[in-house]
Amino acid sequence: MSVNDSSDLAPPNSFDLPRRLRRLADLAYNLWWTWNSDADRTFRFLDPELWEATYHNPVRLLRSIERERLMAATKDRYYLDFYDNVIQAYDSYMAGGENTWFARHHPEHLKQPIAYFSTEFGLHETLPIYAGGLGVLSGDYLKEASDLGMPLVSIGFLYTQGYFAQRITEDGWQEANYHTLSFSDLPVHPVHDERGETLTVSVDLPGREISACLWRVQIGRVALYLLDTNIESNQPSDRGLSARLYTSDMELRISQEILLGLGGVRALRALGYNPAVWHMNEGHSAFSTIERARELTAGGCTFQEALEKVKTSTVFTTHTSVPAGQDEFPLWLIDKYFQPYYSQLNLNRQEFIDLAFNQQHWGDTFSMIVLALRMSEQRNGVSELHGHVARKMWSHLWPGKSIDAVPIQYITNGIHIGTWIARRLKHLCSRYMDPDWLERLDEPEIWDGIERIPDKDLWEVRRHLKRKLIAYMRERVRLQWTTAKVQPVQVVASGVLLDPYALTIGFARRFATYKRANLLLRDPKRLLELINRPGMPVQVIFAGKAHPADEPGKLLIQEVYRQVKRPEFGGRLVFLEDYDMNLARYLIQGVDVWLNTPRRPNEASGTSGQKAAINGVLNFSVLDGWWLEGYNGRNGWAIGKDQDYEDSEAQDNADAESLYQILEEQIIPLYYDRSADDLPSEWLGWTKESIRSLAPHFNMRRMAKEYFSAMYLPALPES
Ligand SMILES: *Cc1c(COP(=O)(O)O)cnc(C)c1O
Repeated sequence: MSVNDSSDLAPPNSFDLPRRLRRLADLAYNLWWTWNSDADRTFRFLDPELWEATYHNPVRLLRSIERERLMAATKDRYYLDFYDNVIQAYDSYMAGGENTWFARHHPEHLKQPIAYFSTEFGLHETLPIYAGGLGVLSGDYLKEASDLGMPLVSIGFLYTQGYFAQRITEDGWQEANYHTLSFSDLPVHPVHDERGETLTVSVDLPGREISACLWRVQIGRVALYLLDTNIESNQPSDRGLSARLYTSDMELRISQEILLGLGGVRALRALGYNPAVWHMNEGHSAFSTIERARELTAGGCTFQEALEKVKTSTVFTTHTSVPAGQDEFPLWLIDKYFQPYYSQLNLNRQEFIDLAFNQQHWGDTFSMIVLALRMSEQRNGVSELHGHVARKMWSHLWPGKSIDAVPIQYITNGIHIGTWIARRLKHLCSRYMDPDWLERLDEPEIWDGIERIPDKDLWEVRRHLKRKLIAYMRERVRLQWTTAKVQPVQVVASGVLLDPYALTIGFARRFATYKRANLLLRDPKRLLELINRPGMPVQVIFAGKAHPADEPGKLLIQEVYRQVKRPEFGGRLVFLEDYDMNLARYLIQGVDVWLNTPRRPNEASGTSGQKAAINGVLNFSVLDGWWLEGYNGRNGWAIGKDQDYEDSEAQDNADAESLYQILEEQIIPLYYDRSADDLPSEWLGWTKESIRSLAPHFNMRRMAKEYFSAMYLPALPES
């Protein structure tokens, strides 16, 4: 299918491995290791310290490990057994394409792939080409597509500087640091054409042409191709086009989106793919529809015919509920970049602009969401409530239709369980649930088995995960302390005074103002009392980045950090720097309660609470996004009511009151209510109910199957 599908994954001679362990090279270059068979341990066991020092990067580990370590492993029977089992599991997974869910249920649709476009992919912490939830969703989706055997091929960017690394100054101000990635240290490899030359694609920008090369990342059976403009044929100023994710420079941004849309289509063509369905995850890639329409008009279609053809095969997922948070461009910028395109599509300027016309308080715009909505036939939001919000927000595009009849459906987000479940909990489930539970994640009956886990064992795992989180926080800040770059108060703010036995609440997400990280701080006196109740201590861990251009978001971090530093709180409020997938894993596994306080209905879905839920952490959240569907009264708590507000001040007051009250009257007493054997039996009952009721639905398997049947099947040609 593709020009280089037969090439080996690991570049030749990339590592100097003993023969007995040579397959580690294959494992290192396929992200399969990040979610299967505890395969990460084949690397960690070799050199645990180096594993941490390379930030869990097997390519770097294998490149820098001492030869003696490898030789020792070849003589370690325990290690070799483990290694052989993992390699066997890997080989049978990779060879198992004929027996996947997809091959069994939809064999007629295996021939032509589904193209999946996203501006960010969160696959693992070592590949920092994601900013947050959108990216993690795309990454989880590729993993599930691989598990299900869905024929997916995906397109994104290999950002040379990734997303930024966050530092918090003593005064609570966020600093953004950019590190240039060394691609040879990443599990990516360059794509070549038949003659062995670097494969490139080009797009026209005003006054020049710009090219990108491609890197391939292998995710189980699925390939992800990443565009990179840092090549010699580009002008120096253009080489940095793919350097950073979400730049606030409009011209850079439109250039990136032209490259993703137009260049992405051209890349798939150059690779020999002929996708049957094109899925745009968010509007950043919506220019791809323009390129596909251009291909068709060049072949003799009228624009109307081209539009119809493009629409039938296009799927669009919108993720935002915030009108201001949209991706759009002033019209002069569109003229500057797209003028030559108008006539190629047989359109005049006005007709082209009308494809995506939108009005903002700051003027007329060309909206990528409007373009995506107009150029697709299957459209969806990411939770039931968000579906409704999106239909209302965009109803003017379908004049004459009632809001409920606006053709935007919803598919609620889910998470990839293999990626997010703690290893110990997974083993505990395997011991008490049906042996094939991992194959049947989306069947509610399978999760009834959770009741068979003895409370004592479940509690032991929960306590272990909290200790692990606390140990990790300490180790991180201990290393920072040795660099002499942090003040003592920052060490305290990083969690060294936390108590592994205290009720621990986690709040980690992007610091956007609507997420209201400060809701819990609204009444500091009340918070102080609640945290320091005799015999019932409570501690709160905050983490999250603000977009570097989001000044209110950065002020919010500062507001939280100032409270965190106050001695009265006794080190029980904590802010952890540099929230990423690694820290997320520790947090969603290690805390007791996962807090989410968006100003409803701004949270389109949210997924971190789903990650927490499958690990036995209880959700405590506003009834927004996925939680409105998940909450059943016995599996966590709801902040505020199932209600919308006109006045956001009144909303914040009501939600804060509800937040304090439920903590004081329900959550804290329940957690500290211990039976004679010192187990919080009631609490564990809630924990089991939370896993049982949430895990089967809010997972990526259910979600991917729904995308296939509700979005892709209608777009697929009859075969
Ligand atoms: C899961 C995840 C998110 C998304 O979390 P929400 O706040 O629920 O949208 C963001 N960032 C990271 C690093 C994640 O792992």
